[in-house]
Amino acid sequence: MDNINNMNDNNTEEKHCSLCGRPESEAGRIMKMPLGMNICPDCMDRMSSQLEERMSQMPGTDNSGGAIDISKLMQMSGMAVAPAMQEEEKPAENTEPDTKEDGAEEKKDDKKKQGPRISFMNLADLPFGMPFGGGSKVKRAKEGEAKPLIALEDIPAPHKIKAMLDEYVVGQEKAKRAMSVAVYNHYKRVAVNMKGDDIEIEKSNMLMLGPTGSGKTYLVRTLAKILDVPLAITDATSLTEAGYIGDDIESVVSKLLTAAGNDADRAEQGIIYIDEIDKIARKRDVHSRDVNGESVQQGMLKLLEGAEVEVPVGSSSKNAMVPTTVINTRNILFICGGAFPGLEEIINERLLKNTAMGFTGEIREKGKKDRKIFEKAETEDIRKFGMIPEFVGRLPMLVSLEGLDEEMLAKVLMEPKNAIVRQYQKLLELDEVKLEFTEGALKAIAAKALKKETGARALRAVIDEYMLDIMYEIPKDDNIGKVTVTEDYINKKGGPLIENRTNG
Ligand code: ADP
Repeated sequence: MDNINNMNDNNTEEKHCSLCGRPESEAGRIMKMPLGMNICPDCMDRMSSQLEERMSQMPGTDNSGGAIDISKLMQMSGMAVAPAMQEEEKPAENTEPDTKEDGAEEKKDDKKKQGPRISFMNLADLPFGMPFGGGSKVKRAKEGEAKPLIALEDIPAPHKIKAMLDEYVVGQEKAKRAMSVAVYNHYKRVAVNMKGDDIEIEKSNMLMLGPTGSGKTYLVRTLAKILDVPLAITDATSLTEAGYIGDDIESVVSKLLTAAGNDADRAEQGIIYIDEIDKIARKRDVHSRDVNGESVQQGMLKLLEGAEVEVPVGSSSKNAMVPTTVINTRNILFICGGAFPGLEEIINERLLKNTAMGFTGEIREKGKKDRKIFEKAETEDIRKFGMIPEFVGRLPMLVSLEGLDEEMLAKVLMEPKNAIVRQYQKLLELDEVKLEFTEGALKAIAAKALKKETGARALRAVIDEYMLDIMYEIPKDDNIGKVTVTEDYINKKGGPLIENRTNG
């Protein structure tokens, strides 16, 4: 209601577009819409083309590309359009469908008398992302009144953070310890700096190295969840320097603002995880064209360090239609992660240089197989890989994750709080069926997943394949009380063990 009142207030002065907020003098002739809505030509155009696109994707809609009928669009959007509106949109002759009964004519007149011709218009309910950021109001405390997200006395000690991580993340002991300390220090730093102490603690962003599916993203997600801080995850490959097709670098901050529910103070203390950071390395091969990897790194420097950036609200790209706000990234914890394929060799080479001749062959072979080789990574190696020194310098915490072996994969299936097996057990429990996996079955699933070389990511695909038949067959027979998945079933040498319910 407030919005509507504001809109009406505006009417006494210069008219403003209700969507992009620009005044008529800037936006061009503003059209008056029902319920006091004012829409500028640009917004009308954008709305039409967006809706047109949506409509063309909808089954059963006419793709002929004819002019867009705004009343139809509004109906699609959940905005009930009263007949009077349809009448006004159309020329003098009445185009009401012939099939309408006479009573409809009277009802139409009634509605006319009632005033508003659109019975409900809530832009937030539109079935698509509003291109205008309409209704995206940014919350921000008054100057000097912003509070730390986690008060100094409430920041869990590193061992407590680690214990919480243990409930979800298998193995990766070193990484869990390092991250627990890092976030503990980070939020201490935020709390201290916000108090305005004279000693500013420097921020310590993180770089995570680890093969795909080793839990990099999962660790960050879990961390944000247990600390209850907003998190934005983005992929470095989607980022481009301004002016290129793709998301501007600032769009990551805009995502964080969205994750923080448009609360600027919360966003300013959140976590941003940038995945696949190795993909923006400077190419080592001089013949390949490095389109923008290095310049994206350059573009990210000020974000990582802490700067005020103007970000679009409710959209990933800046344009005239989108309202913007300024976010300071000083207290945002940036975590970058990547698989860094080939880094093993760089580390190995460095280690070899320091080794007495004669042992090199042995060490080279060992290094190739060493799952923990990333633990030995140094900034020098990352620079050699193709990250520019200024970039590496802004990610002082190096955290490495090891590739998961068969034993760890088997644990991932069963142990975490929300493990895949537990999820299946819960599903079958609803049918009052007990689901069990033998140890051999878990190992066999892990072995199959390991072959796919995508770490824990492969587990779901493997287990889903075997569970599909079980999930299909079990509900057919009410007598079944227990299913045991065996190693033979996974190795396709037999079926799962089925036990009937014991009555009483
Ligand atoms: P990446 O290292 O490529 O970012 P992810 O974190 O996306 O890998 O891992 C994919 C999925 O595998 C996660 O969603 C999680 O369910 C599972 N997973 C990976 N590593 C672990 C782990 N160490 N402990 C428990 N689950 C894990």
